[in-house]
Amino acid sequence: MEATLVVQKYGGTSVADVAKIKNVAKRVLEAKKKIDHVVVVVSALGDTTDQLAGLACQITKSPPEREMDMLLSTGEQVSMALLAMALKEMGQEAVSMTGQQVEILTDTGHTRAKIRHVGARRVIQELRKGKVVVVAGFQGVSSEGEITTLGRGGSDTTAVALAAALHADYCEICTDVEGVFTADPRIAPDAHKIDRISFEEMLEMAATGAKVLQSRSVEYARNYNVPLYVRSSFNEAPGTWVKSEGEIMERPIISAVTHDFSEAKVTVIGVPDKPGAAADLFGSLADANVNIDMIIQNVSDHARTDISFTVSKEDLQKVKEVSEKLVGSIGADGISYDDKIARITLVGAGMRTHPGIAAGMFKTLADNKINIEMISTSPIKISCVVGMEDGETAVRELHKYFNL
Ligand code: ASP
Ligand code: MG
Repeated sequence: MEATLVVQKYGGTSVADVAKIKNVAKRVLEAKKKIDHVVVVVSALGDTTDQLAGLACQITKSPPEREMDMLLSTGEQVSMALLAMALKEMGQEAVSMTGQQVEILTDTGHTRAKIRHVGARRVIQELRKGKVVVVAGFQGVSSEGEITTLGRGGSDTTAVALAAALHADYCEICTDVEGVFTADPRIAPDAHKIDRISFEEMLEMAATGAKVLQSRSVEYARNYNVPLYVRSSFNEAPGTWVKSEGEIMERPIISAVTHDFSEAKVTVIGVPDKPGAAADLFGSLADANVNIDMIIQNVSDHARTDISFTVSKEDLQKVKEVSEKLVGSIGADGISYDDKIARITLVGAGMRTHPGIAAGMFKTLADNKINIEMISTSPIKISCVVGMEDGETAVRELHKYFNL
């Protein structure tokens, strides 16, 4: 694709050590031969972010979020400086910049800040001088002048936000896989790379467990119509384009089956069936900054009802604290938790116009004696929560049944 400005993002595994950083520098040089302006966004080296978080946990059970951001944001600064040095060593003028220098302005939500505005004035100045600009991913600066981070995997969002601000031709996400797959190949051996997929489908995939892109980055890309090209950092194989639906001609009914083993199910039992109970419960969880995923309220029996929802296992402790306090005040009978669940999701824009997809999914699960605990749908996806032990079979069998 002809281009004048491209933002490339390299993830942690692509810059895990010095040899890999040099490899990235070579790839950037190759890109620079064909493209006038190249901006590179980097993640922290390998598992640095996990290691830093681990250090914090050795000190306190609940690290202050501001300090956590100060700590985690250092990871990306190491990789940006090393990559800029590697580029210079190869004869390419380059300059590294932090989120603050790039003017990635965010709200004050430490550890999961949202981008409000990207200035990029200095990036443009440096590009005009012929330099490659290397930007620290995952970090920004809040309206109060504090360093913030954008949530795990946030370098993708940095890259997309910069691509939007700079009106880049596209944003290339260079990673340790060759693109977006129809399922996780480690679970479904027949899984294969998808050539093109729409923002909407990718968004559903990211939200339901596909790890290749951070959800928020896809949302951002859709909102600003930034085409994404997901490809490997280690070879030249063609990757996956993520674009607006209008630009995708041929498309299958079902694009992919995703899985997520990282959630837990919470059930509030015997909630009085009167206005306000759900508002109280979810209001308090929202105040505690807990993201709720699926929600199901059962048909009420004897003026009481059960409300089940799923949350990330990481948030389970917070959920316990908040909801156990609330049980009394909303007059519910109790709470139960289940962290041995798997959420399996079929994603496909073709579902909108093809009946019978849900029926096919339920039948496949039934034929494999897999019990469904929760169901939720959107116009282009169907998710079922099943027992964790059935998760992999469900993925494999659905991939087979829908001929992906
Ligand atoms: N280093 C951060 C993380 O591991 C951000 C990123 O990799 O995108 O979550
Ligand atoms: Mg990472």
